[in-house]
Amino acid sequence: MLQDLPFGRLENEFKNIHPEAHDIVVCVRDNSILVKRDENDALTLPTVAQVGEWAYANSWEHWNEEAFQYVFRMQDENYFIWMGEAGEPVDTAFAYEQARGLRQVASKHICYGAMTAWHLFSWYRASRYCGRCGTMTVHDEKERMMRCPNCGNMIFPRISPSVIVAVSDSLLLSKYANRAYTRYALIAGFTEIGETAEQTVEREVMEEVGLKVKNIRYYKSQPWGVDGNLLMGFYCDLDGEDTIELDRDELAMADWFPRNDLPAKDDGISLTREMIRVFGEGREPR
Ligand SMILES: [Zn+2]
Repeated sequence: MLQDLPFGRLENEFKNIHPEAHDIVVCVRDNSILVKRDENDALTLPTVAQVGEWAYANSWEHWNEEAFQYVFRMQDENYFIWMGEAGEPVDTAFAYEQARGLRQVASKHICYGAMTAWHLFSWYRASRYCGRCGTMTVHDEKERMMRCPNCGNMIFPRISPSVIVAVSDSLLLSKYANRAYTRYALIAGFTEIGETAEQTVEREVMEEVGLKVKNIRYYKSQPWGVDGNLLMGFYCDLDGEDTIELDRDELAMADWFPRNDLPAKDDGISLTREMIRVFGEGREPR
């Protein structure tokens, strides 16, 4: 999957450090990220030195006195985000690309880093003011948290838990209604306040396809920063009738597929695709 890096894991513990010229910067504008793409679809992100020069030349604005915020370390490099809507680069080999489109590229670690930085950027952007009293917040120096200097409100990064569900005997696959993503997917949905992940599984399957399930087994999880999610993957068995009653607001179609004839290949990126492949191989947890 996307987060399985060849040289170890993303080091995401908070550090209060300042940018150096060679550090890497994720610049966000609207729904896009500033990248340079080569002829092999490998991506490069700009450095602090480059972004500093472009920001000065083209008057990029940022939110507070700190233009760069440290986010994490990956493969021996420090990553920062530009703390504002980014402007035009001077080097025209760089261009803004849709964050969701980056999953197709050759540089999986850049895609994962960009999506994770995007998640943090969205949280920092949404946390500039205290939601309780409206005062401008300040950065905490010891942990990843925004603090209100007026009322003491502490704002931590927001992660939305959600589930993806593989229902068997045959495998239940669906396609979303009214979305850009048109490939086969597993049943999915956000965990509501007051319920367990297992209850989310039961509720989402009932809401979207009208089926009862049992024997719910946890498989793996995946961070999905571009939507602010932590996806938790479950397998489960059908309990009773297999007649699908489709929620047409959510899904365009849903159907049963036999283990030896599944219409989706593993792309090495998403938990959904891995779960479909593992089911095809008969290796899902029992
Ligand atoms: Zn406050």
